[in-house]
Amino acid sequence: MSLANCSLIDVAYPAPRRSRQARVVWGARVVTIGGDAPVRVQSMTNTDTVDVIGTAIQVKELAQAGSEMVRITVNTPEAAQAVPHLREQLDRMGVDVPLVGDFHYNGHRLLTEFPACAEALSKYRINPGNVGKGDKKDRQFAQMIEAAMRYDKVVRIGVNWGSLDQELLAALMDENARSAEPWSAQQVMYQALVNSALQSAQAARDLGMKPEQIILSCKVSGVQDLISVYRGLAARCDYPLHLGLTEAGMGTKGTVASAAALSILLQEGIGDTIRVSLTPQPGEARTQEVVVALEILQALGLRTFVPSVTACPGCGRTTSTVFQELAKQIDDFLRAQMPVWRSRYPGVENLKVAVMGCIVNGPGESKHADIGISLPGTGEAPAAPVFIDGEKALTLRGDRIADEFMALVQTYIERRFGQDRPAA
Ligand code: SF4
Repeated sequence: MSLANCSLIDVAYPAPRRSRQARVVWGARVVTIGGDAPVRVQSMTNTDTVDVIGTAIQVKELAQAGSEMVRITVNTPEAAQAVPHLREQLDRMGVDVPLVGDFHYNGHRLLTEFPACAEALSKYRINPGNVGKGDKKDRQFAQMIEAAMRYDKVVRIGVNWGSLDQELLAALMDENARSAEPWSAQQVMYQALVNSALQSAQAARDLGMKPEQIILSCKVSGVQDLISVYRGLAARCDYPLHLGLTEAGMGTKGTVASAAALSILLQEGIGDTIRVSLTPQPGEARTQEVVVALEILQALGLRTFVPSVTACPGCGRTTSTVFQELAKQIDDFLRAQMPVWRSRYPGVENLKVAVMGCIVNGPGESKHADIGISLPGTGEAPAAPVFIDGEKALTLRGDRIADEFMALVQTYIERRFGQDRPAA
């Protein structure tokens, strides 16, 4: 069949984002959010903020893993007092990642009574469901917004359905009950989440806050709920949006649910910062949530952070574990080197390596990579052709194939991305 008989298949690109731009600043470090800025990765510590050294170490780990902002809990006067010391400690450690303060219930008091805390933070997260009840709500919300304006900070008005403003929800439920064509309870809940964020943003604007200082989020824990709520929110405003599936859960479940929800929205051009809220498995590093966030953005082609390793899943044609071990070894090696390589080898994050298990797809996939190896499957001659820039370069044999291939990868990186690389 010739192309004349075929219809054109469009290349899939994420839709452009339509949000205005905010700037989160610490010293010389400026993180732009929204508009044409890259989708940013955010994470949150799970240390006690009063433990300045422990928190500083975790913030550093999260930043090194790729988190561009790190949120910390500010829940008590002691935590608020610790924040400027934490900031100084990070600055001494050479970690300039902006800190975001997470406030609930008493943020108005902490930001007012601890000005050094208010100043050391680069962004405040305000949960409109937890700023106070009745007539205190507006006053306490205003105190937090005034602190943000005084110190020129960005705020994220972060609604969460676990702590949704119950007065607002009850009012919408009552109105819906009186309607001739009432919505479902789920639809009213969606509306309450979106309205809570938008009303709070308008209240902040009425207090004099610039729109460029406002970021919104409406987090829920169900994938379809998140997609519906954010579509509704994005249709009604142009504030930058922070995306995250709240309480995503552990391990594979949390990873897959987050990837499913965030990918659909990002593909539609919705979302300017993301966080993957994974519950760490016992012994698992907190940085795993950052690794997953980076992988989501990289898989969608929105950003590139680390070289990619293409590896086949293996099948009955290769019963040896050599290729699995080599793929893991290469992947671990590339990730471990990235903190240093980012500055030493500019552009190395675009490298593509292939590690394949047999002759069926091995040579073809390896030719698509910058450097690839096709290991011998069961019954094949014990030889592993290596392809560099699409051409077969050499064949490895014997017991040291893994080490020799790793050395070839390193040489390739030095030649292509090192300081002495040939001019383009
Ligand atoms: S490349 Fe070979 S070993 Fe790997 S999945 Fe395909 S057929 Fe199986």
